[in-house]
Amino acid sequence: MNRQTVNPVRNSKGRKNMARKAKFSNGVKTQQRKLAMLKWIPALCLIAIAGLICQKVVELPCARANEQRPDWKAGLASVVITPEQSMWMAGYAARTKPSEGKVHDLYAKALALEDDQRTRLVIVTVDLIGITLSLREWLEKEVGQQYKLPPEGLLLSASHTHSGPVIRETKYSIYGDTVYGLSPEHIQKSQQYVETLQQKLLQLVGQAIDSLAPARLGYTHARAGFAMNRRLKTEQGYRIRPNPDGPVDHDVPVLRIDGPDGELRAVLFGYACHNTTLSFYEFCGDYAGFAQQYLEEAHDGATAMFITGCGGDQNPYPRGTLTLAQQHGRALANAVEAALVSRARPVRGPIRAALETVTLKFAEPPTRQQLEQETKSTNKYERRHAEALLKELEQTGKIRTTYPYLEQVVQFGNDLTIVALAGEAVVDYSLRLKAELAGPPVWVAAYCNDVFGYVPSLRVLQEGGYEGGGAMRYTPLPGPFAPSVEKRVVDKVHELVNKVRAPLETRQ
Ligand SMILES: [Zn+2]
Repeated sequence: MNRQTVNPVRNSKGRKNMARKAKFSNGVKTQQRKLAMLKWIPALCLIAIAGLICQKVVELPCARANEQRPDWKAGLASVVITPEQSMWMAGYAARTKPSEGKVHDLYAKALALEDDQRTRLVIVTVDLIGITLSLREWLEKEVGQQYKLPPEGLLLSASHTHSGPVIRETKYSIYGDTVYGLSPEHIQKSQQYVETLQQKLLQLVGQAIDSLAPARLGYTHARAGFAMNRRLKTEQGYRIRPNPDGPVDHDVPVLRIDGPDGELRAVLFGYACHNTTLSFYEFCGDYAGFAQQYLEEAHDGATAMFITGCGGDQNPYPRGTLTLAQQHGRALANAVEAALVSRARPVRGPIRAALETVTLKFAEPPTRQQLEQETKSTNKYERRHAEALLKELEQTGKIRTTYPYLEQVVQFGNDLTIVALAGEAVVDYSLRLKAELAGPPVWVAAYCNDVFGYVPSLRVLQEGGYEGGGAMRYTPLPGPFAPSVEKRVVDKVHELVNKVRAPLETRQ
């Protein structure tokens, strides 16, 4: 649009200049004209030389950045977190039996980064349904004590695979695992799994930090098209069905980590889509697991890590078979490969990170009478939800009205901003934040640090349906959120971005 309006102006000016020149040359003798031209030669040469120098000056920072000295240190580690025994699987309340084997292993992976001022950031990704706040708090405390890593220097991200084990919630759980109807035996298995997971994650962070070695960072991106909006308006309201006309975010952001020799050491990539191609009884990382696997097979010795975007209302379509999960994985891996062959934007330090809580409000909670009525519901999930809230009312005298929502922003010099939202944020958040935040590329992740339930935008909240509030019945939270939800989430992001992008001298 801009180019179209600017160019004609420039062209018409050029034509006017030429006309003026023609008029002038008609009024002088040929000899004089030649002399005049000769006079211009040194000047033209100077302009040409200056142009070359300018070009050099303009190109230099870029070239230097591409071949920049490795002013980063990066460390990598990964660990298998596939349960060693059969466990109840997370993601679908309708499952009727525990897991039966695995398609491939589930992994936790860590990327430790250290800038030239020795500020550190550790990004941990897990092939799991989520990360609970209690797990985040435990790990944050431990890595703070053992590795002096500050809370804002730890970013946890879950792939939200629906083919992983149930992770027992603690702090915000009233009826804990009964949403899955777990037996005491399976609850115990889940607790044991989380205890082992905690230790593995703690060691993983330590290993990544221990392996810090010179590296260069670059940002690039591509696109993949298999995520589709899954909120379709029907006569019965919004239902989970493919909606090709709904909003999507097909961006595949990629952070590449290269060694000083130019060898690819790691690739961190994102995509805004549920890992729900599969709904069977074998452990599997779904499309994100396959994408990581394919990338690691293609780049010997490199670690591939997946960060989920704002895919709260996005599903991979078509879905339902292992072959489709592999195909979506291949599509995503191909997008990452496409990003890798395109020119990466150098990412320099320093790292500036912020991690804060914003209070999200729930809508007016149901009354005791309403809850008692709901305990007679024929829908077992609605019944259990009402029972849980009644229990909360009895135990604490009230039903909670707010949720402490975690937001994290990481700024890499003037080159990249990563916004990490908690919960299952819907796609409106990434589209809005990327549009609103000017400056360097913005990578919006969700499912980070505390995966507790859906985070609807105002639009989705008002439309209703599963992500708008219906899914709250599968959590111990009262739900739905109050209409202020989007404003509160977005305002806090802006606040944190302003904080981490502020010039160093004005920062506290
Ligand atoms: Zn989900």
